This record gives sequence, structure tokens and C-alpha cells, in this order.
Amino acid sequence: MEDVEHIEKEMKLIDDNGVRLDGRKFDELRPVRIEAGVLRRADGSAYIEWGGNKVLAAVYGPREAHPRHIQDPARALVQCRYNMAPFSVSDRKRPGPDRRSVEISKVISEAFSAVVFKEQFPRTSVDIFIEVLQADAGTRCAGLTAASVALADAGVPMRDLVAACASGKIGGVVCLDLNKEEDNFGDADCPMAVVHGTGEIVLLQMDGHLTYDEFQKAMDLSLGAADKLFELQRDALRRRYSVTLEEILKESPPVPPPPPPAEEPPSPPEEPGEPGDSDKELPEEDFGPEGL
Ligand code: ADP
Repeated sequence: MEDVEHIEKEMKLIDDNGVRLDGRKFDELRPVRIEAGVLRRADGSAYIEWGGNKVLAAVYGPREAHPRHIQDPARALVQCRYNMAPFSVSDRKRPGPDRRSVEISKVISEAFSAVVFKEQFPRTSVDIFIEVLQADAGTRCAGLTAASVALADAGVPMRDLVAACASGKIGGVVCLDLNKEEDNFGDADCPMAVVHGTGEIVLLQMDGHLTYDEFQKAMDLSLGAADKLFELQRDALRRRYSVTLEEILKESPPVPPPPPPAEEPPSPPEEPGEPGDSDKELPEEDFGPEGL
């Protein structure tokens, strides 16, 4: 415990010039890359790399909700399972659900519940799976941002894309998108998810303390980041669905023209009941004395 306090005191997360440990400024996002449609078996999927985070999202549905007693006759359920792989963190993480993953799954399903047109799919379930392969703080935001692309890839009707980014406070300065060291040794972390078209906030959490002004600043930073993330989400979907003429030609090779019809002499009309006339309907007595 003393060691941790000592490190906290010694560690300068942001220097006097406003430069953070990884070289970013206070309002800089870590590098983000999004790919849509990465899993063949899922109805929709996406992969995101966000700084040191690597996260996969898969969406199934809307499909009949199971077990049946969870079905809602008026609308679809939006269910999410967030899971961290045992190898995603430096110490092996015990596999299976824990309090943290149950909480993250719940807040993410609630965020998407607010945007999916659930009334169009009664008795069904939209299932979102988020698998964290490598974690470096901000995994719920990365997972949610990827899941939004996966939902769009699955063709699930929703009001708009949702993007999420956290802001927090390190060394008394409000900063965007904290990494692992900043999250561990910083003063506050505040993830939020924003619906693109409306600016509506569908997820908001707070770990630590921010004053009202600091919170306003954090919110402005996260809203700005959400706009940038939206561009990346849209680009990923465009790349997935834009088809070039070259690809169309590659997929369907040119069909050779049909050979010209051979000229045959017209065949004479056949007499009814002639041998070889098997296609014609036979009279009933032809099946024997008892019929069939
Ligand atoms: P988020 O990943 O959304 O920021 P937290 O603030 O709870 O969520 O976690 C911050 C970081 O702490 C995670 O991204 C991960 O790197 C690390 N972490 C979380 N849970 C564990 C765990 N069980 N073992 C080791 N590291 C963990």
C-alpha cells in the first residue's frame, strides 16, 4: 500500500507543458481503428483497436428470445454480455462473469435499449457480445463503440450510431480518454456514450470526483471525441458495404454467350399411346387389375 502511495506521489501524469505520459495533449484521443463485418457467423460484427485496447463485438438477432418467459410481447429485449479474456490484462484475469463485467453489460444494454427500435420486433432478443482481447482502460467505451457498428452491420434498426469516450482528471487537469496508468493513478474517470444525431447521453458513469466546472469540461471533451468516433464508425461501415466495379467483376466472372441453337428438322407429331410415350398419363387399367 505504501508503495502505491509512493508511486502516486512520484508519478507525474501530466507535465508542466500539458504533455501526458504517452505524449498526448489533454484533448487528444488515442489512435482508433474500426473494422466492420469481421465475423462470418454473427449477424453483425466489428473489431476496434483503441490505443492498447483490442475489442471484438458480435451481434445476433433480432431472434426469438430464449427462454420464452423472458420474452416481451410488446418489444425486443436488448441484451449485452461484456467479457474480458483471461489474457487481456497483465495479471491473468479469472475467467467468467464478475461484478464489474455484470455492471458493464447492464449499462451497455441500457444504452442500446434507448436507440434500438424495439417495438418493431416483439418477443425477440438482440444479443450483443463484447469480447475484450486486450485491455488498457476505456474498454467499455471501446466495446460500446464497436457494438454500435456491429448493430448497424447486422441491420438492426436504430435511431443512430452511438459512440462512447471517457474523460477524467489527472494531476488536476481534465483530460480526454485516460489510459491504464492515468486511470489507475488519476483523480477521476467519467465514461459517457452519445447518440450521434441527437447528442443524447445514453451512458454516464463516474469514478472519482469532479467539480461542476470540471464535469462540464469533461463532457465537452467527450462530446467532441464522440463526433470523431462517429466519423470512424461511418467510414468502417462504408468500407464494409462499398463495392467497387472491380469486386463485382471478380465475384461474378463474365458468363459466356449461349451457343447458337442447332438447326434440327421439325419432328413429326407423335401418335397417342405409342411406345416410348412414358411421360403421357396412362389409363387406370394399365396399373393392373387392382389398380395401384
Ligand atoms: P474500463 O476498461 O471501461 O475503463 P475500468 O475502469 O473498470 O473499465 O477498468 C480500467 C482498466 O483496468 C481496464 O481497462 C483493464 O485494463 C484494467 N482491469 C480491469 N479489470 C481488471 C482485472 N480483473 N484484472 C486486471 N486488470 C483489470
